Amino acid sequence: MHPVAAQNPQVLLHPECRVGADMGRWRRTGGGKALVQAVRDPAGVRNQVREAGLRGLGGSGFPAWRKWDAVAAEAANPDKYLIINGNEDEPGTFKDRLLLEETPHQVIEGAVATAVAIGANRIVFYVNPDLLRPLASMKIAIEQWRTSDLLVLAAEALARPLNLTLLPGSGHYIGGEETAAMEWVEGRFPFPRGKPPFPAQSGVMGCPTLINNVETLAQVPHIVVKGAEWFRALGKAPGAGTKLYSLSGDVLHPGVFELPMGTSLRELIFTHGGGLLSGKPLKAVFTGGPSSTLLTPADLDVAMDFDSLRARGSSLGTGAMIVVSEGTGIVKRVAEYERFFAHSSCGQCPSCKTGTKTMSRLLDRIDTGRGTDADLALLKNLCALLPDTGRCHLVNGAALLLDSAFRHFHDEFVQALVKSPQGRNPGGVEWR
Ligand code: SF4
Repeated sequence: MHPVAAQNPQVLLHPECRVGADMGRWRRTGGGKALVQAVRDPAGVRNQVREAGLRGLGGSGFPAWRKWDAVAAEAANPDKYLIINGNEDEPGTFKDRLLLEETPHQVIEGAVATAVAIGANRIVFYVNPDLLRPLASMKIAIEQWRTSDLLVLAAEALARPLNLTLLPGSGHYIGGEETAAMEWVEGRFPFPRGKPPFPAQSGVMGCPTLINNVETLAQVPHIVVKGAEWFRALGKAPGAGTKLYSLSGDVLHPGVFELPMGTSLRELIFTHGGGLLSGKPLKAVFTGGPSSTLLTPADLDVAMDFDSLRARGSSLGTGAMIVVSEGTGIVKRVAEYERFFAHSSCGQCPSCKTGTKTMSRLLDRIDTGRGTDADLALLKNLCALLPDTGRCHLVNGAALLLDSAFRHFHDEFVQALVKSPQGRNPGGVEWR
């Protein structure tokens, strides 16, 4: 880790947590204490999570306690599920794999303590199948838990066996959507489901189901042991706790940085990331997760927490920041993203299936100098028409990203259009 980052509060990435799949070492440094407390007072854990202001750190930013309370209120008949979402497949996001590989016991303890708090008897660790080292580390750690007294303690608190399963995902980006993950757990292709019913009422096999991101649940043991006040104070208000930011692109020191929630983009890029690798001025930042929009140098001092970014019409997403410097063509970068969305669409919703492919095709035409005014106009129409027409957020993400690129870099799209001998081609007919 970069030396400057080491001066910041380290919770999830503290050396005591980064012991790999070594259960003995983890317990010698206090591992397991949170579970013992959760067994004594399951409702108290839910209260602590609410008071701590823990949010869904996989991109939703939804208050964690709401989903927890909804599942806890349901009867466990016959089962109740907890899915730990480690599908992590968004461009530029690479934080959960670090936690799964280097701190598997922290993740498992968070999951088991949560299961006790909501009364779940089946835990599924759902991990991107391409993450081979994290999967190997989790496999060893789960085996250690299966023969551990801690699991016996949790089962006694639940008054029935607690089942731990490690399930590699399907390898599809869309498999990270919560209802798609449930489909995969049931053994089917991960097509997102329509809502309602919501997972809390009818999830896996019709049972109450809580699904939380790896980073969210990894925070739980620390909140339980050190308290909600301590956790809130780690963040920069209104943010609470710490956040793992994945920094990549044109920066000197790319990597995962654990920083107070609400750290500014300027501090992340120029203090922790060492500034821009090319030495050129910053042009834009692509943020990770669906429904994210571009950030620009005007956003450098905005606090990177869910509420502050939402107030600016953007979103924190997974906390991934992909830095782009002056001289980089925005049209080409956006075309690459839209190709990703078109490739990732599961094809259930006609608007998404054809809309994302059409956007990708039009952007490729513009990027390769073959686009016309009509192509640009059609893209703008699609940006207005597509949001909220699909079962999941993928189609929203495709439209919002492009809309944001138009807002900040419209000139680049216009300049990339094909030129006729008399000037810009006004019609929909392709020149050449
Ligand atoms: S919006 Fe797209 S990715 Fe989502 S369910 Fe519909 S077709 Fe599939």
